[in-house]
Amino acid sequence: MEDISHILDPLNPAQREAVTADAGNRLVLAGAGSGKTRVLVHRIAWLLQVQDVRPWRILAVTFTNKAAREMKGRIQEMLSEPVGGMWVGTFHGLAHRFLRAHWQDAGLPQQFQILDSDDQFRLVKRTLKALELDDSRWPPRQAQGFINSQKDEGRRPQHIDAGGDFFQEQMLRIYRAYQEACDKAGSLDFAELLLRAHELLRERADILHHYRERFTHILVDEFQDTNAIQYAWLRLLAGDRDNLFLVGDDDQSIYGWRGARVENIQSFQRDYPNTKIVRLEQNYRSTSTILGAANALIANNPTRLGKNLWTEDSAGELIRRYAAFNEIDEARFVVERIRRASQEEGLARSDCAILYRTTAQSRLFEEALIQAGLPYRVYGGQRFFERAEIKDALAYLRLIGNPADDTAFERIVNLPPRGIGARTVDLLRTQARADGSTLWQAARAAVHQALLPARATGALRSFIDLIERLATRAEAVQEQEQEQALELPDLVAEVLTASGLPAHYEKNKDGRGVERLENLEQLVEATRRFAAEAPNDEGDLLGSFLAHAALEAGDAQADGFEDSVQLMTLHSAKGLEFPLVFITGVEEGLFPHSMSASDPVRLEEERRLCYVGITRAKRQLYLTHAESRRLHGREEYPMPSRFLREVPGELIEEVRGGAGKGKRVSGGAAKAGLGAGVGAGAGARGTEAGGGFRLGQPVRHPKFGRGVVLNAEGRGAGARIQVNFESAGAKWLVLDYARLEPA
Ligand code: ATP
Ligand code: MG
Repeated sequence: MEDISHILDPLNPAQREAVTADAGNRLVLAGAGSGKTRVLVHRIAWLLQVQDVRPWRILAVTFTNKAAREMKGRIQEMLSEPVGGMWVGTFHGLAHRFLRAHWQDAGLPQQFQILDSDDQFRLVKRTLKALELDDSRWPPRQAQGFINSQKDEGRRPQHIDAGGDFFQEQMLRIYRAYQEACDKAGSLDFAELLLRAHELLRERADILHHYRERFTHILVDEFQDTNAIQYAWLRLLAGDRDNLFLVGDDDQSIYGWRGARVENIQSFQRDYPNTKIVRLEQNYRSTSTILGAANALIANNPTRLGKNLWTEDSAGELIRRYAAFNEIDEARFVVERIRRASQEEGLARSDCAILYRTTAQSRLFEEALIQAGLPYRVYGGQRFFERAEIKDALAYLRLIGNPADDTAFERIVNLPPRGIGARTVDLLRTQARADGSTLWQAARAAVHQALLPARATGALRSFIDLIERLATRAEAVQEQEQEQALELPDLVAEVLTASGLPAHYEKNKDGRGVERLENLEQLVEATRRFAAEAPNDEGDLLGSFLAHAALEAGDAQADGFEDSVQLMTLHSAKGLEFPLVFITGVEEGLFPHSMSASDPVRLEEERRLCYVGITRAKRQLYLTHAESRRLHGREEYPMPSRFLREVPGELIEEVRGGAGKGKRVSGGAAKAGLGAGVGAGAGARGTEAGGGFRLGQPVRHPKFGRGVVLNAEGRGAGARIQVNFESAGAKWLVLDYARLEPA
């Protein structure tokens, strides 16, 4: 018999049973660190090697693209051969792959494009404008949220009954018009990928049949965070073949606020009553001290499915709690401990993780790390592909691939400035709307019929010529065997130069020119890597690269080569593990977040988030909080979080930091102020909320009136700011459009 010890030996009996289970639905319901992901990986290896399942019969869903890559890597390692043809990816990635294969059946142009949330936001704004709706009355962010949540629930405009509610009716109108614009341009937002994929399977019995026959095994990690449409898609695909292998942990459901439904766990057991539940109870990740803390904390949640979790591991070190004088002291303390761990105790820097509740908290840690000369990586910060200059360059590539892409057209028609003014673009929009055409068609018609003043016509003509010339070049990339075949990186470099973007940024006076140019060079590098790794059967390389750019989750920039300290939100830490973990800002109002503290359902989700945080730690865990923190423009004196009290006292010791007691530590945050934008990068100040606003600063909005800056996230065009308005309550606004003034 074949040697399968490498598949089974690293497993305990319960895991082994799950891995070798015969046909039938399985639900592995188990706590953090119990080996759920390991079981999933070994199950696939088992199917391939022992059951002789062909790789293309396997569909595996992970929560991030990074997890998908790691999963594939581990399976190949185990089998010591490449396994092509397996479908491993996120729901979005898989839906995209599916639609790429069936673009015609799905009624899409072959070169359909993906709108990321920033693109989507812009399109919603344009839709409001076209409908002549006042965007202070009908906030685009809210409309965007409405559209996405409807799609996540599988609802098209015709399925929605506004019930005579004026607000709902308007939202519905926006949804409808927005969708028309998307369809016309051949653009799909993230939620649309899932919805389309689902509709296609539902409506086309032949296609459904094909995939049901094909995928004899469907496996899903992190099942607790699937939303309605994802679950519906799984059910359709599985049919009654009883081939689902799902793993999850209800205690780690942390995306309810984004439409995830932990109830899917119960629904699954109801929908497939023959499902066998597998429980794994031994934790292999953490010391018994850390596990004890996690178990005690989560026991405070009243609505749980209930699981046991134990470990053979020793008690290890106590959890350390540090009460910092303020947020700057907190950052110094954390960074000093990391320095010690890496320089004196020989821990790799990448073994150390700093976790926080809100992205805005990362800045002070970044500053302290820079000062200490410690390299670091921020997960889920602004993604490389979301940077303005990269999106500009990508817009050229998109328009070249698909002239109907209005979003791309609008972005670059006058970038770099080429004398095509707002008036001209307005005229094109009106024309396109009247004719039901795309902006590109309207532009060509305008040039053709000389509808515009001579200068504008000339400018527009040279833009059209440029794009057409580049489109011809792009075709050469497809022609793999031809002599004039062009490599993707060369095409991208050529497009960049021809676009005039590098020269434009070089002249930029905002001091970021060099950085932008470097990023553009990185883009060429990224296509080189992509082309090298792409499977040979990948026909349209440019198209797949653009999809990759849109889908690649925030984990991309964390894949550096250098050994770096890991910074991320608690949400992004799901599924990961580190020997040394710091959970910071463990204060009432921050964690649990002030917006969740009074709502029992959301409070439970915050607690689960804390459970996720604690269970990331293998050996050492620090919980830090600040006795004073600059928040809402004032010196706040937050109470330590209730979560600290929920951890048994005997598992925690209080530690004192290096900074002199009683002395107010001053530094970055104290100097934070107006001026530096969100895009200022790693050097930005701790309380800087971007756009010249500070956290806590009183501001005024033309419609919502007075408020205080609460929070900020993202950088560049996607940067958002949260303001607590006196009358309208807390709202997220996109900084670029917020029209805020200091009050
Ligand atoms: P999470 O809920 O956080 O996603 P998980 O249940 O998916 O956790 P894994 O990440 O698969 O857990 O496993 C946690 C750690 O324990 C990993 O380092 C894994 O390699 C290790 N591990 C799992 N099972 C075993 C085992 N039987 N023997 C030794 N180590 C194991
Ligand atoms: Mg896991």
